[in-house]
Amino acid sequence: MTDKIYPCPICNNANGVVVHISGGNEELWGCGECGNVWQNEEELISAMKKANQTELEHLLPQHKQDNSNIDRLKNLHDEEIRPLIPELLSWLADCNWPVASDVLGVLKSRESLVFPHIAGILTGSDVEWKCWIMQLLIPSFSPEHKEELRGEIEKLMSLTSLDEDTQWVVEIATYCYNKCFT
Ligand SMILES: [Zn+2]
Repeated sequence: MTDKIYPCPICNNANGVVVHISGGNEELWGCGECGNVWQNEEELISAMKKANQTELEHLLPQHKQDNSNIDRLKNLHDEEIRPLIPELLSWLADCNWPVASDVLGVLKSRESLVFPHIAGILTGSDVEWKCWIMQLLIPSFSPEHKEELRGEIEKLMSLTSLDEDTQWVVEIATYCYNKCFT
């Protein structure tokens, strides 16, 4: 029987591998390269997941011009990119940022992962964010998803306060509504 081996989550880049070590009453998973040990397989696997997550987070834009990892983001599996979606959406808070249009492309291709976050943005307090979302993202959604947001968009269209921000929301919500439903 051959024990499984795993790539080491600590020294992954140095080709470390983690093997099962058992002797006497002791049982460990250890990396011969960096010397790190884990008490059991579950602990090792959770360390690997965490390392993988950290690696994925490095693909997120680091500043307003950083589109260096956009292609890698596009190629991630749904399960890999799912935890990154909220932060990617936050890059749409100001679509004048150069990276925003690239991020928008990534998000449009993951509608089913993005959709659950949208109602929260529309009901939230960030005026600029909700306006960009209504202008650039929602009109690209499937008819079913648009329909689910209809109530929220209608609510924003019928706000009556006269302050400038609210007028802007009403204007963009009306634009969005027309794009989606007429
Ligand atoms: Zn190692």
